[in-house]
Amino acid sequence: MGNTGAVLPLRPAHALLPLLLASVLSGCALGAADPQTRPSENPRTAGASASTPGTPGTVPPTTEAPRPLEGRTVALDPGHNGGNAGSAEITRQVDDGRGGTKDCNTTGTATNSDYAEHAFNWEVALEVREQLEKHGASVVLSRDDDEGVGPCVDERGAFADDADLLVSIHANGTEDTSAQGFHVIVPEPLDDEVAATDLAADSADLGEVLVAAFEDADLSPNPAYGEDGLVARSDIAGLNHASVPAAMVECGEMRNVEDAARMESSEGRSVYASAISAGIEEYLIGD
Ligand SMILES: [Zn+2]
Repeated sequence: MGNTGAVLPLRPAHALLPLLLASVLSGCALGAADPQTRPSENPRTAGASASTPGTPGTVPPTTEAPRPLEGRTVALDPGHNGGNAGSAEITRQVDDGRGGTKDCNTTGTATNSDYAEHAFNWEVALEVREQLEKHGASVVLSRDDDEGVGPCVDERGAFADDADLLVSIHANGTEDTSAQGFHVIVPEPLDDEVAATDLAADSADLGEVLVAAFEDADLSPNPAYGEDGLVARSDIAGLNHASVPAAMVECGEMRNVEDAARMESSEGRSVYASAISAGIEEYLIGD
């Protein structure tokens, strides 16, 4: 009994030893792990919250193009139209804005390979619109496509009443094939009283910045049209009917081989469109 009693208590002690050792070892392992892992976790966690792109409040702003023309409205008038040729409508007489009348519209000119002016004007206007809209401007066009007839010249000025300015886009058709280069037309004031108005002065300024923008694009003025390619005329009904600063750009001479090659290429049209856009932007931001 005594032996038996002395032996029996040892069994649980032996049996518990491995459990006690396991408990102590695991406790040491856990205790040792905490101070080692926490310092390395904290900087990683802090760094992640500061630089993870998806973390609310820390997302860098999306890069957006500057929109300096936000709130401005530009009226573009691509000259002529694709359906003008053969239409009796365009010979209807309309108010020329100077007390007389003139044809509703004309067919425009073309290059020697029959690239039509109305198509050139339309394609350049669309590219100018795209460039201006990218910079925040609202753009209105005098026509919806390149297939219709008109609008008449009196409407080509009046449609711009709510805009900040009007630019009419054309190309010239001098029969002398050596004639080359751009020119810009502004409305000639009716009299001294009109000449003294802000509107007349603003149109003259618009013409000047457009000339400067064309020269900056390495385009040369046609010396037949006034000094530096800027000329004032009283017979352009669209300009006469404009109630906002207005200018007409004759981008080049369609009968000239070099000008025609530039007009017939998309790269060349982009040169004209960028020059027109740059001039418009310079005018609007500077006023
Ligand atoms: Zn024209």
